[in-house]
Amino acid sequence: MGAQPSTPAVAAGPADPEPASLVTLSVPDRAAMERLVASGADLTERVRPQADGSVQVDAVVTESQLEALRPLGATLASEAPQSPPQARAKAAAPQDQIVIERAVWYESRDGYFLSVEASSSAAQAADLTVSWRGKKGTSGQAEMVAYVDAGQYLGHQFSTPVPAGNQPQSITVTSAGGGQAEAKVRQWPDGDRPDRASRGYQKDFVTQYMTPAQLNERVKDLHRRYPKLTDLITLPYKTNGYRRHAQAVLGTPPAAAVVVTSDAYGSEGGNDLSVELVDPGAPDRPLQASLDGKLVTVSLATDASGALVSTAAQVAAAINAAAGLPVKASVYRTDPGAGVMAPAPATQLDDFLNAPADVSREPAEVLALRIGVHRDGSRTGVLAYSQEHAREWVTPLVSIEAAERLLRNYAGDKATRKLLERTDVFIVPVVNPDGANYSFYDFNSQRKNMTNHCPPQQSDPALRNQWGVDVNRNYAAGSVHDGYVGGSTNCQSGSYAGPAEHSEPESRNVMWLADTYRNIKFAMNVHSYGGYFMWPPGAYQAEGRVTLPRPTPEEEEFFLDSARTIEEAIVAERGTVIWPQQTGPVTDVLYSAAGNSADELWYDYGIYGWDFEVGADLWNSETRRWEPVGFQPPFSEGHQEAMEFAAGLISLIGIAADYRDR
Ligand SMILES: [Zn+2]
Repeated sequence: MGAQPSTPAVAAGPADPEPASLVTLSVPDRAAMERLVASGADLTERVRPQADGSVQVDAVVTESQLEALRPLGATLASEAPQSPPQARAKAAAPQDQIVIERAVWYESRDGYFLSVEASSSAAQAADLTVSWRGKKGTSGQAEMVAYVDAGQYLGHQFSTPVPAGNQPQSITVTSAGGGQAEAKVRQWPDGDRPDRASRGYQKDFVTQYMTPAQLNERVKDLHRRYPKLTDLITLPYKTNGYRRHAQAVLGTPPAAAVVVTSDAYGSEGGNDLSVELVDPGAPDRPLQASLDGKLVTVSLATDASGALVSTAAQVAAAINAAAGLPVKASVYRTDPGAGVMAPAPATQLDDFLNAPADVSREPAEVLALRIGVHRDGSRTGVLAYSQEHAREWVTPLVSIEAAERLLRNYAGDKATRKLLERTDVFIVPVVNPDGANYSFYDFNSQRKNMTNHCPPQQSDPALRNQWGVDVNRNYAAGSVHDGYVGGSTNCQSGSYAGPAEHSEPESRNVMWLADTYRNIKFAMNVHSYGGYFMWPPGAYQAEGRVTLPRPTPEEEEFFLDSARTIEEAIVAERGTVIWPQQTGPVTDVLYSAAGNSADELWYDYGIYGWDFEVGADLWNSETRRWEPVGFQPPFSEGHQEAMEFAAGLISLIGIAADYRDR
């Protein structure tokens, strides 16, 4: 999908959603970003601190949403001035002491890069510069950025890794206030190298983006071909289904308009209904609504002169009061209800769903493929689940590719045989199939599921792209209902947490797996995009930025060591390095995400819950900038992402195979 600002649709009708597009926003600081989250902005998972202290975050917005975000400090990054870091005032720099927390280099397919994290006793007031020396006489210098989140200083870092010409060996961090520290530069990720693939190791099994129906077919096919190594699990909670009630807007918004909604889903008869408003053509007639076949007729009231006098509120009330009508009505959101309605010709109701008829409108089954030689609970379980967020089209390919690699290589590859002997793998390619269908056929930026919890005043069809629950904010640990940051109680928000914890079948299915298969000790929640590797805590309370409990130092070390091993496997595919500053707890490297699934798995079940954000930025060697890949990159790029993160997922299964309960 394009990243250019949308152009307003020409002659859009009252039922047409305003076009949305994926843009990079610039905000003055992280506090402003949190205000965007709180306002309901549909932020992506790509957040980039900038050299001048501002933050860039990708978001899906309409023109009017963008205008509403401007007072909160948001601008399009393309229109924000690129202020050079030297422009910062250095006069008042306080005297300070510096601690270097991490200095690492890595080599990716784009060359050598340096990443440094340090902190100053003067906190965010400090102005830090890194100079480095490297192999072959290389050297360089770069400014650091203070990282302040929810008012708390978390240290300084580079906004993005800095190109380094060759391998950096030593750094000096100096502060404008006089502080100085030195360190050697270590290699990143420097985890255990993946086993060299045995001769004949098979991979590369995904050839296109896949719809939920295609994914389910693939999972069933794998089970048919490998019945001894797999079980097909139909998860207990069906989704609501790719379906909506049929609607029509009568009258002319913003004033004097009524929204009519069928009781039945569009696919179950709602789309066959029509509604009309007629002038009785005589004085002193009452307002009445009636049904003839599939046509709802509202005869408007007239006064003694024969003039029409029914207001929108009266028309809606008459429809709702009439016995036996298959529709409900409400006043349009911008209309106070007092506008007098004009006659309207018969208008057919529509669920506005564009998928071909062969895409099921029934509640959808969510499938898990269980893979392993001993599927009896005796082996360490690994859960991989993707596409909680509908628009993240690459993510199911990651799990399907990993499943195929495990099954197809079992016979010929010793390392794979060991994995399937020792582990019990559960793969759910698509957690949110209804949203995924909507993303494929109707609105490619759809993040949430399709279930509308909004009241009638927020349920006219032009708002349909904003309905739904953010499945990854619908879990119970550290939820918005418990006072944590990063989920919303606004039904139109991009991160709407739902009316209650676990209100949605999509999240209940994931928890059912954790509940039912207590041997699951590891979980990978696959998201896109931005190139992150994260673990709990994933949420904090606004007051004092109190996070969910930190893992113990031993657990933290296990998370990090495992991450480095898994990231080596990712690098091996095409040289993509997940940045050290994007490897860590969600709250430290991304933002607070109240009610996410990895937190619930970790805090309530003791499952090591990780998150992949596949789709690392691509280095543009001409502009010397990192560029985002988006949710639906050209398939050639999405395919590469699937290959590298499938390798990462298999590496996680390797960690599970070697894991012994401590
Ligand atoms: Zn996501």
